[in-house]
Amino acid sequence: MTQHIATVGGVAVDTRHWIGGERVASPTTFTDESPIDGRVLAEIARGGQAEAQAAADKAAAAFPVWAATPRAERARLLRAVADGVEKRLDDLAIVETSDNGALLRSHRRGVMPRVAHNFRFFADWLLELAHEDFDTRGHTNRVSWNPAGPCVLITPWNAPLMLATWKIAPALAAGNTVVLKPAEWSPLTASLLADITAEAGVPAGVFNVVQGYGAEAGSALVSHPGVRRISFTGSVPTAKHIAGAAAANLVPASFELGGKSPLLVFADADLDLAVDLAVEQYDNAGQVCLAATRLLVESSISEEFVRRFTAKAATLRQGDPRDEATDIGPNIHARQVDKIDGFVRRALATGARAVIGGGPNTDLGGLYYRPTLLSGVAQDSEIVQEEVFGPVLTLQTFDTEEEAVRLANDTPFGLAATLATGDRARAERVTSRLVAGTVWVNCFFVRDLRAPFGGSRQSGVGREGGTWSFDFYCDLKNTVTAPKGWQDHG
Ligand code: NAD
Repeated sequence: MTQHIATVGGVAVDTRHWIGGERVASPTTFTDESPIDGRVLAEIARGGQAEAQAAADKAAAAFPVWAATPRAERARLLRAVADGVEKRLDDLAIVETSDNGALLRSHRRGVMPRVAHNFRFFADWLLELAHEDFDTRGHTNRVSWNPAGPCVLITPWNAPLMLATWKIAPALAAGNTVVLKPAEWSPLTASLLADITAEAGVPAGVFNVVQGYGAEAGSALVSHPGVRRISFTGSVPTAKHIAGAAAANLVPASFELGGKSPLLVFADADLDLAVDLAVEQYDNAGQVCLAATRLLVESSISEEFVRRFTAKAATLRQGDPRDEATDIGPNIHARQVDKIDGFVRRALATGARAVIGGGPNTDLGGLYYRPTLLSGVAQDSEIVQEEVFGPVLTLQTFDTEEEAVRLANDTPFGLAATLATGDRARAERVTSRLVAGTVWVNCFFVRDLRAPFGGSRQSGVGREGGTWSFDFYCDLKNTVTAPKGWQDHG
């Protein structure tokens, strides 16, 4: 074991950057702790201006060859990365659980297989990206997707590898090179992914990882003039900084941001299904951008809804996320728990009532926040308008469809909405009026990578998935060819 290797859950993880196909250390490090028990997991290289510059240079140098690599070869390499992810699935799962506290069983069965799928999906899509031809007065317009150049990808901690690979896979498939800056609270699986790309044969400089804080490494990367695309998932305030940096260099940027999504439960809904959907919002200890944290329930059924919800929520087991029986693990960091608790305290002080929960689960230590439902909340209150990013839901009632839609749309966000109703006509009517990038009807969290994903208003700019990812990571070119001027007259 060298000083640059940390052993996490029995897995060796290199704590340095991955730049130009080499491990690179920094003069200083930052400490990465596990939210499970606060244990120090690793001292991670703390990147800044110099590392950002080095990674951007390597990504720029590798770009021409990677962009010119035949699509079939790029697709083959991405599939080899997918194979590598599957081969190391257990390692990735335990390291990510140790690092961000999300359930080990979800990482094993859901998240990491989807990480592999992200690479395969975009490899397949790349091969299917056909030229589109249009005819204009005998002239052919041929539309093609051309790689844009080095891309900077900045990602959050709540689903580190899943969210990063939604960006990495299409960016690489399209022929771009990548510099990833993972979140400082969950830096470890990005390093394992670097190993996997190297083993798969991805050429040096095509995929790079710079570790560090947002204000240092992140800020230096997004301001770099050689960057051709910036893709960011994270919070609204950070997005505004990054949008400023992107504007200064006129670089296209996409933003997947926070939410305050509603779950609308109509009296004609299958009530048990609606309750299941509501309790599902505590997944990942509420640290899900899409979470429907505002329960809007038709007045006539609200009492029965709350009775069943409370009974169901009481069956959730909170504890160590490595335990198969656990349903809710810890929140990411003491600072995050303080933030969550601050929201709840202020809501309680201004008239809200905790139907369940309302504070940390002190039996488990400070990082485990009890699943909480607050009633008696005003529409214009902070707890209804702002993203908490913890296991905290609010309950409001409505009497008419009109009122339900008004409440649902009345926040600064527009990421997602979920509807529970037995009436198809109502589902269509309400869906068409909701401001949301995704609407789920009688379901939640199901998504096909061919479909667009993203948010309206403060929830984001742009969409990821299928063609939309390629449109973002490529320079689209239209080549117009005349029927005349050919020596063969053909
Ligand atoms: P954050 O904005 O604090 O950090 C996200 C990333 O940005 C981190 O890697 C951080 O180091 C980096 N960063 C911070 N300041 C920077 C700067 N000035 N320049 C460049 N990079 C900088 O967000 P977070 O707390 O890590 O994540 C939680 C947020 O992410 C929530 O708001 C959540 O809703 C959102 N989120 C959105 C989606 C989505 O797809 N819409 C998915 C997951 C999370």
